[in-house]
Amino acid sequence: MFGNLFGFLSNDIGIDLGTANTLVFVKDRGIVLREPSVVARYKTSKKVCAVGNDAKRMLGRTPGTIEALRPMKDGVIADFEISEAMLRYFIEKVDKRKLVPPRVVVAVPSGITAVEKRAVKDSAIRAGAREVLLLGEPMAAAIGADLPIDEEYANMIVDIGGGTTEVAIISISGISYQRSIRVGGDEMDEAILAYMKRAYGLLIGERTAEEIKLTIGSASPIESGELSMDVRGRDSTAGLPKTIHITSQEIREEAFSDVISQIVELVKNALDRCQPEHSADLIDRGIVMAGGGALIRGLDQVISDATGLTVLQADDPLCCVAHGTGKFLNLLGSLSREQVDRLVTQ
Ligand code: ADP
Ligand code: MG
Repeated sequence: MFGNLFGFLSNDIGIDLGTANTLVFVKDRGIVLREPSVVARYKTSKKVCAVGNDAKRMLGRTPGTIEALRPMKDGVIADFEISEAMLRYFIEKVDKRKLVPPRVVVAVPSGITAVEKRAVKDSAIRAGAREVLLLGEPMAAAIGADLPIDEEYANMIVDIGGGTTEVAIISISGISYQRSIRVGGDEMDEAILAYMKRAYGLLIGERTAEEIKLTIGSASPIESGELSMDVRGRDSTAGLPKTIHITSQEIREEAFSDVISQIVELVKNALDRCQPEHSADLIDRGIVMAGGGALIRGLDQVISDATGLTVLQADDPLCCVAHGTGKFLNLLGSLSREQVDRLVTQ
């Protein structure tokens, strides 16, 4: 009764606190915000001057007095103060102050420590939440991808974000195996940046490296024909602007191979270590991929070839975790306390 009344009087919120992007879901409205997880602050006073889109524009081209930081970069909270500033900014931006403060569900990287979880909860409370529940990112992704997590059969989810890749095996609404590595889309960008310098003496910024990845990045040969593009940067010896033509094949073979093999190893290790019954279930069910990194051309094929399992992409991989927090909010009314305890990360 009170639950329903609260639902009517407040806007419950789901947040995907990602290493690259933060998404906010508002109950009955859907995903209302998606901005980079970046905070800009003055170097000397440490005062925050911009968050999200505005702060990302400053990455790599900040004036000397300002620094742009990514508080969740490696899947751990690098700095409590700036993470709190970010969370507060996002909550305040969407919370249209109804009578009762919102209940907030935050999806967090599964590698964060108890102290960091406490900090996220306290920050959300200070930002105006009346109650905060934390969902592990793989669990949120699995709910978002509509996996039948409450069944006894095992489901595997691989979430490839900016700073981390997480793998989890879920059955009967609980996590039976989970691992996370600090490798994801960011490392692909860094590998491209290093390759351009090594092969062509061309210096490029992080944003150009990401653009190359999005335009021609691939994990396996592109059957419809390899892609190519011009890249502009600065010649490392002459110091002058220079344009180089590159192909998807060289990026895949010379820059990506190490990152891709680490992701494949993570998945293979999960299959190797999980309970034998779960292995058997996964032959039928396959693996579901979420997160922006799942969009790399041909990655599904590479993982499928390495494991012999079917690999599917979640619908809208970049929004999967945020949708999961939203679906969890909608489910909350019908779950028992025990069921909620199994799903959330304490
Ligand atoms: P996080 O959950 O860690 O915030 P996301 O799931 O939002 O991460 O994914 C962000 C990563 O996905 C970034 O590294 C971004 O460059 C990458 N990404 C986004 N779209 C694509 C795409 N179409 N192809 C390859 N990588 C992509
Ligand atoms: Mg994510």
